[in-house]
Amino acid sequence: MKTQAQLIKKFGNPTIDRVTFESKWMQIWKVPEEIRQAIPVLPRKIYINHLLIVPLEDTLRELIANGVHSEIVSYDGVFNIRQKRGSKSISVHSWGIAIDLNAKLNPFRGKVTWSEKFLQIWRDNGWFCGADWSAASKDGMHFQWEQF
Ligand SMILES: [Zn+2]
Repeated sequence: MKTQAQLIKKFGNPTIDRVTFESKWMQIWKVPEEIRQAIPVLPRKIYINHLLIVPLEDTLRELIANGVHSEIVSYDGVFNIRQKRGSKSISVHSWGIAIDLNAKLNPFRGKVTWSEKFLQIWRDNGWFCGADWSAASKDGMHFQWEQF
């Protein structure tokens, strides 16, 4: 995974200059209607780093095609400029490059409820799954994309 310094080099530091960061990288993605019909907890629009729009749409379509999309019961956000939980570093949500799903069922450092098939589809599409991280940083709700 990329370091904080690498992410700042690529995108700038949204905690210092939010306006420049947002104007350059953030975009409103209108979630296609057929995806919202299959996963009704998704909002109509997701404000996200534009580099993630294609991989996120592809991944959601693949979850649907494999019948595991119904595991998603809540959408818990993408863009949020904040510190990482339990740390002084910047959360990758500050760059809009991660999505949280089923946060209540998959709390930070807690249990993971996703099926292996569901997680493998995210991995195969180039995402880091917080479910795969070691106990101290395990974050089952968290899916992060940094293939840039
Ligand atoms: Zn997250």
